[in-house]
Amino acid sequence: MAASLPYPALYATHGGIWIAGADGAARGLGRGEAIARAAETPMIMLNAPLVGQRLGYPDLSGLDLLELFAFVFPARFAVPTPKGMAHALGLAPPKDDGEAAPFLLRAANALLERMGRADWPEREGAWASAQALYRLRWAWSQPVTGRLQRPERDERWLFSRLPEWEEKAPRPQPKSVRIAPADAVARLALLTGRDAEPREGQKDYAASAAAAFDPRRIEGHPNMLLAEAGTGIGKTLGYLAPASLWAEKAEGAVWISTFTKALQRQLDRESERLFPDARERKAKVVIRKGRENYLCLLNLEDALQGGFAGRAAIFAQLTARWAGYTKDGDMVGGDMPGWLPTLFRRAGATALTDRRGECVYAGCPHYRKCFIERSARASQDADLVIANHALVMVNAARGRDAGNAPSRIVFDEGHHLFDAADSTFATALTGQETIELRRWLIGPEGKARGRRRGLAARLMDVASYDEAGGAVLEAAIQAAGLLTGDGWLQRIGEGIAFGPLEKLFASVRGTVYARASAQDAGYGIETEMAELDGDIVAAASPALEAMELLLRPLMALGKRLEAVLEDAPDWLDGSARARIEGAIGGLTWRTQSLSAWIALAARIGGPADPDFVDWLAVERIDGREFDIGLHRRWLDPTRPLAEAVLKPAHNVIVTSATLRGAGDWAAAEARTGACHLENAAQHFAANSPFDYAANSDVLIVTDLKRGDPAQLAGAYARLIEAAGGGTLGLFTAIQRLKAVHARIADRLARIGLPLYAQHVDPIDTGTLVDIFRDDPRASLLGTDALRDGVDVPGHSLRLVVMEGVPWPRPNVLHAARRAAGGGSAYDDRVVRARLAQAFGRLIRRAEDRGTFVLLSAATPSRLLNAFPPGVTIRRVGIAEAIERVRSGLSTATQLGHQVEQEQAAEGLQ
Ligand code: SF4
Repeated sequence: MAASLPYPALYATHGGIWIAGADGAARGLGRGEAIARAAETPMIMLNAPLVGQRLGYPDLSGLDLLELFAFVFPARFAVPTPKGMAHALGLAPPKDDGEAAPFLLRAANALLERMGRADWPEREGAWASAQALYRLRWAWSQPVTGRLQRPERDERWLFSRLPEWEEKAPRPQPKSVRIAPADAVARLALLTGRDAEPREGQKDYAASAAAAFDPRRIEGHPNMLLAEAGTGIGKTLGYLAPASLWAEKAEGAVWISTFTKALQRQLDRESERLFPDARERKAKVVIRKGRENYLCLLNLEDALQGGFAGRAAIFAQLTARWAGYTKDGDMVGGDMPGWLPTLFRRAGATALTDRRGECVYAGCPHYRKCFIERSARASQDADLVIANHALVMVNAARGRDAGNAPSRIVFDEGHHLFDAADSTFATALTGQETIELRRWLIGPEGKARGRRRGLAARLMDVASYDEAGGAVLEAAIQAAGLLTGDGWLQRIGEGIAFGPLEKLFASVRGTVYARASAQDAGYGIETEMAELDGDIVAAASPALEAMELLLRPLMALGKRLEAVLEDAPDWLDGSARARIEGAIGGLTWRTQSLSAWIALAARIGGPADPDFVDWLAVERIDGREFDIGLHRRWLDPTRPLAEAVLKPAHNVIVTSATLRGAGDWAAAEARTGACHLENAAQHFAANSPFDYAANSDVLIVTDLKRGDPAQLAGAYARLIEAAGGGTLGLFTAIQRLKAVHARIADRLARIGLPLYAQHVDPIDTGTLVDIFRDDPRASLLGTDALRDGVDVPGHSLRLVVMEGVPWPRPNVLHAARRAAGGGSAYDDRVVRARLAQAFGRLIRRAEDRGTFVLLSAATPSRLLNAFPPGVTIRRVGIAEAIERVRSGLSTATQLGHQVEQEQAAEGLQ
């Protein structure tokens, strides 16, 4: 019923632009005409920012089908392409790009028609939401309100519809139990089911992991297992079997920590085998994220009541629709579609979470419904808590959530432990960090609206009750005025820095520009903190004094608050107590940060500490500065990891497909912190059952001129053409990625091979991977995150092309670690690990086939043991590489299709 909507639809790719009239008739048109038509008539489109980018007209707006989808089906998943929409709506997908525009009309009508059905499950709240969106002039308001019936009774507003969590008694200490290896193997058999007998390697894995759950013998000496299991062993079920048995028998929780969201989702799915009943699963398996991932209901209420304007206000309304149906309130990796915030160019998304630690806990009217609080309580009684490395480390390091700190931990994707520890235990004294502290203490400046208030407002009752507390709070507020304030970057740029911290950052900027190289690259620049000039040394002293002036009252305030809690006055009800406890928690880690900043600033002009690497940096994106400051990393971040996380734990398993890299166990011990424990870690290894030698090959292209963007782009285009898409292109520099994309996207699109790119397309990385996975003719270009975290089994990924040897970026931190880690041998270890990870994207299951191409003549042979033994490695010219990809993959393609068809016939997919 395309005629029921009076709007045309517009569809654009790199290959062309099409418009369909309200009657469904479609035609191609030029860019100029498309922009002119879009400016005068509201048009239906799919992902307006992306269409705008394809047309070279970023301000394009219209009736975005994705916004309508988010309204009709909040908290439901859909790949944001015509095919993905067709799948989500049960419609026939368009056969080609030319048919996509009329399809958008059909999809829009189907969505609107869904709202008219009696069995529409997401009806509750839609009427009130549509009315609010109408007032905000949402583009879809007319057709939506026209199809919605006013409910007979007024709808409950969102905040009363959400369920409340219940307070529970603290969980007793886990019992001391042992898991017999045979029991773990029996549990594994139950999990894998009769159709898929556990394999030998997987059984051995489960048995080894069982022993790692034995009771700890000496405090500070955790039972630690390092387990390398090649891809395809089935390691997740291998550790879930003993972990779930232990949790059951000991009545305690095992934390499963991952690095990527993809693995978190996989674990969530695999837990269905453990607990097929959805209600039981909800109680037993909990996913926990950092609090900055969750929607803060108080921030949402502010936004709905006028705190947001324009497009951000529309986003807040759609977020409220989602909040009524979400599983857990996670806006970042949960059931909010990753594309939704990007449709609004991320306006408002950050402000709806609790990024700045302004939570007022029990003082919040939504405390009993708060998603963050609910998730924290749910994990108290869970058997399995699925979290990420950063959260596990932060919980341990900041001593938050003391009664619920992880003590039995499985670190999956353990090869990322080093990097996760590196960021968690880092110190950054920068303009952005200091302005955040200032806002936390004294609230936002200027015309900022909403409930964002400073600490003084949050602790007003304490200040008036406890005179000494009031005095130190006032002193802290005064001292916070010396931190960077709004507009600091601009003032520094204009040479009118204000206050001691801004003046220090101005000196840092001057030093970095004077000393750094690659100034024209447009991205971050830095210089080591050595041999600093008098100017910056002089600027450091007043900054240090200012920070010390702030630290003293903050520490005193923490003590005063503890005293108030101990000697509780009459007015201190549960709500006020929780609010003060929240403030103490916030003060504790902020005073820790402030102390670390002071130590770092004191380094200017002082002696270097051999445990740390310090440098000065100006952060930039596309030449635009966004932060300036001083940075400190541990030379070996596994040292604080061992102290704060490993030693207090009872049982730790660190596992990965590439734990040793191409090195030995000593390398794995060094990368995981096991080398800092007094007791020895156990080791386990099982090779991948995949036949890499038969199913994959490596081509090293030897005749491309280094640094020639035209040759590089040409090679990518021809390889992608030869493979018919299905290519993951990996880059070490964003600029080269952009240059290659700009040269080849149109050419490939014209032959029906869509090309997507991280850092180019206005789409989040997770959604880009979803699009890539869903379309076997699509290809995707990206950088580090794609090298490590893409799990695309099957035919959609059959060629990986790397632009060159992935040498580490030669920055200050790398130079220090290289010097400490054996010079070029250190670089080789890093490169081998990266090559192994990139190659690992190719073969995700036994039937997968593919080719790995490295576009670098200068690939040293010593690095080639990064690839699995037996895989054929050929050094060839680009012409031969293209021919091999074309012929090799045509065989693989046929085989891949054949396997998929057979699996479909057997009902296995
Ligand atoms: S309790 Fe805190 S995080 Fe939760 S809704 Fe209230 S202010 Fe936001």
